Amino acid sequence: MRILIIEDEEQLATAMAVVLEKANYTVDICLAGDDGLQFARTNLHDLIICDLMLPFIDGQTIIRTLRAEQNPTPILILTAKNTSDDTIRGLDLGADDYLTKPFHTGELLARLRALSRRSGQIIPTMQLTMANITFDPQTLRMSTNSAELQLTLKEAQIFEMFLKHQHQILSKDHLLEKVWGYDSEAEANHVEVYISFLRKKLHLLVADIEIKTVRGLGYILENKQ
Ligand code: CA
Repeated sequence: MRILIIEDEEQLATAMAVVLEKANYTVDICLAGDDGLQFARTNLHDLIICDLMLPFIDGQTIIRTLRAEQNPTPILILTAKNTSDDTIRGLDLGADDYLTKPFHTGELLARLRALSRRSGQIIPTMQLTMANITFDPQTLRMSTNSAELQLTLKEAQIFEMFLKHQHQILSKDHLLEKVWGYDSEAEANHVEVYISFLRKKLHLLVADIEIKTVRGLGYILENKQ
């Protein structure tokens, strides 16, 4: 498993690399955004850890560029405190998860394990469908007969849960546990953010299904009335 770290705080980047190498990851470090983007484009990495405030090219531009180029590598954003707007924007651009600095190394490893879980899995090629929507777990694409959209890893993991449990209520805690993992400290609003992304994509595809909020209980994937 090879990880790219794009982080301009050299001490932090080096400290992360030490922890990750101890955990048997192979690590590349880029201290500036332009180098980071160039490295990311080689497609050699299984995961990318990306700071947002970077010299030359910022993290958001890196994420937007990679996703526009159909690069599906999972991206974990590193953010400073009090920048939740930037974080949400980063997720909206196609990042898969975020971690707020300062963080415990255990938490970093937990997030990376959750993000890489899919890469180690044998992915069933069977497509999942409901009404006019089809989802391909291999390509992470959601489609109708006339259009298709690329989902990010976390969007895909959540959508897959709903498709496998059609007409069943899924609680936020259940989604957090299944998608982010037991040991993750990801917050409930993570789930809300991803549900809103999925709703946007379903809306764009003019889906006949929708994710409804069931107050106090969670969410349910249902046919539109
Ligand atoms: Ca920075």
